[in-house]
Amino acid sequence: MKPNLNSKLRNVGVTIFTKMSALAAEHNAINLGQGFPDYPMDKSLIDLVSHAMASGHNQYVHMCGLPLLRERISEKVNKAYLSTVHPDAEITITPGGTYAIYTALTTIIGPGDEVIVFEPAYDSYIPNIEINGGISVCIPLQFPDYKIDWNLVREKISKRTKAILINSPHNPSGSVLESEDIEQLKSIVADTGIFIISDEVYEHLIFEQKEHLSILRYPELFERSFVCFSFGKVYHCTGWKLGYCIAPAVLMSEFRKVHQFNCFTCNSPTQHALADFLKNESHYLNLGSFLQKKRDYFMSLMKETKFEALPSFGSYFQLYRYNNISNENENDFSIWLTQEAGVATIPVSAFYSKPSDNKVLRFCFAKKEQTLEYAANRLMKFSQNN
Ligand code: PMP
Ligand code: GLN
Repeated sequence: MKPNLNSKLRNVGVTIFTKMSALAAEHNAINLGQGFPDYPMDKSLIDLVSHAMASGHNQYVHMCGLPLLRERISEKVNKAYLSTVHPDAEITITPGGTYAIYTALTTIIGPGDEVIVFEPAYDSYIPNIEINGGISVCIPLQFPDYKIDWNLVREKISKRTKAILINSPHNPSGSVLESEDIEQLKSIVADTGIFIISDEVYEHLIFEQKEHLSILRYPELFERSFVCFSFGKVYHCTGWKLGYCIAPAVLMSEFRKVHQFNCFTCNSPTQHALADFLKNESHYLNLGSFLQKKRDYFMSLMKETKFEALPSFGSYFQLYRYNNISNENENDFSIWLTQEAGVATIPVSAFYSKPSDNKVLRFCFAKKEQTLEYAANRLMKFSQNN
């Protein structure tokens, strides 16, 4: 008799990032699809990892993460977001931001619980909810600026609403939450038992002098929140898969019950290295302008094409409309663009649970200038602006 495999994620295939990266490799295309930098990370951080390994930091660290790293994180966030996060009780180091979000959802979601998700949504959110027996209640962000329609949120709140999942700066649109959004969120959750999961992996990748409004800034929101971060995004090392979750002590102690029987603890030498590296603030303070320069450079090159830029205030993604180039749907056009023009992107329809087609593609500009130039030159060849 065959084993009875009853899929928990019946409707899920391989992620769009995996698919487009494989297609890019197959066609020797420039990969502006999956979000990762192609420039080197800081050499001194690499040296600190080697040093940590050579010094014998190769065994398990504390289940919640290296205490010194948690201390450094608390110093950093308390300064940046005027919060009072406690390193022992309120921070847990995780193998990446995705895992932090998954663990937060697993901590609170049971069968039939509803979670409000804004679409386009990062691809892991809905499967993470559904694998826990939860129901995703999807609310579209308003096209083309991808703002939240808070009246719609009020309509969608029900007795079963367990959590609202927010993401700012937002992947894929680059929209950011403003203080009016925070006020709306405060008034919606006040006097309810609703949790907030806040995906802030792009916290420092924010442009045009905008300020990142971390949930950590607002005690009345933080008391019900799991706030998730990623070292990969901030230190140009997505392959390290290291991040952390911050939550009030009572929520964090439940989060840790899940974490301790899943990952238990994360990679040790990288935690030692980051604890040392975090002494220096200049890295993350300069990150916004570093990436804005890349975005601006890419946009200046793309002006020569018929692609039309949508506003982007953060993350390392820029959306472009192509409705005056092709009538093909986003999926087909992104495949065609990879195969024929040699540039891989991500169709924004991949971030929706229902069919959608605004003729918009996501481009990752966290790349060397030369990579951006090569990509723009290829795109110019068939869509030059006359
Ligand atoms: N959330 C968003 C919105 C992301 O774009 C990503 C991936 N870049 C993550 C979470 C996951 O980060 P990590 O690689 O640290 O798991
Ligand atoms: N977060 C990255 C992106 O949006 C991809 C991470 C992944 O491949 N899962 O491109």
